[in-house]
Amino acid sequence: METIADNIARLRERIYNRALKAGRKADEITLVAVTKTVDSDRIREAKDAGITAFGENYLQEAREKIPRVGGGVTWHMIGHLQTNKVKYVLPLFSMIHSVDSFRLAEEISAQAIKRDKKADVLIQVNSGRENTKTGVKPEELPQLLEAVSSLKGITVKGLMTMPPFFSDQEKARPFFTTLRELRDKLFPFFSDSLSLAHLSMGMSSDFEVAIDEGATILRIGTAIFGGRK
Ligand SMILES: *Cc1c(COP(=O)(O)O)cnc(C)c1O
Repeated sequence: METIADNIARLRERIYNRALKAGRKADEITLVAVTKTVDSDRIREAKDAGITAFGENYLQEAREKIPRVGGGVTWHMIGHLQTNKVKYVLPLFSMIHSVDSFRLAEEISAQAIKRDKKADVLIQVNSGRENTKTGVKPEELPQLLEAVSSLKGITVKGLMTMPPFFSDQEKARPFFTTLRELRDKLFPFFSDSLSLAHLSMGMSSDFEVAIDEGATILRIGTAIFGGRK
């Protein structure tokens, strides 16, 4: 039977090979292991196999699992976040990938200031303009960035997207390209107040083309932990 450690070894090899092919360095790409529905024993197996960053969609699950998994790792909030949950999320997570409104950004900033820190966030872009997905539309991004840049308690570290699902990952490429082009276009403009360096994009089914298009953070669940119920 394949173990989680086997899956991680194989995944790292695929990431390494693809980065090489794309003329990039694999060590500039952070692998975030997505743990929704995965229990803490299996998460610890991944930690023992060298994973240092985990991603969770749900606060409730994270609250139970984070203490059981223990130190030496960071947690990324990758799921849709309600404003009233922000105060619980901040102490547990080192980065929030799913900021998609000024109201949410404002609350994150306010809560961070209360704690005397700055929160690292990514802005989620709905690159496929799907009604079922959260995130700002690409054309709304400049305005949101400008508004958010005035908030003292957050640093925008980059952009995140989740394209529509395709069985052929090549079809996801244009959505990743869109995210990279937005970053490249807006980065110089906002670089005084924001640090738009990161592109959080690429999941189990499409991370290889995401690497081609410049992903710096991959969010991968199934390829590590197997299918979810
Ligand atoms: C579940 C999830 C992932 C990981 O998806 P896999 O296909 O299991 O790799 C990545 N990002 C987000 C936002 C998710 O909800």
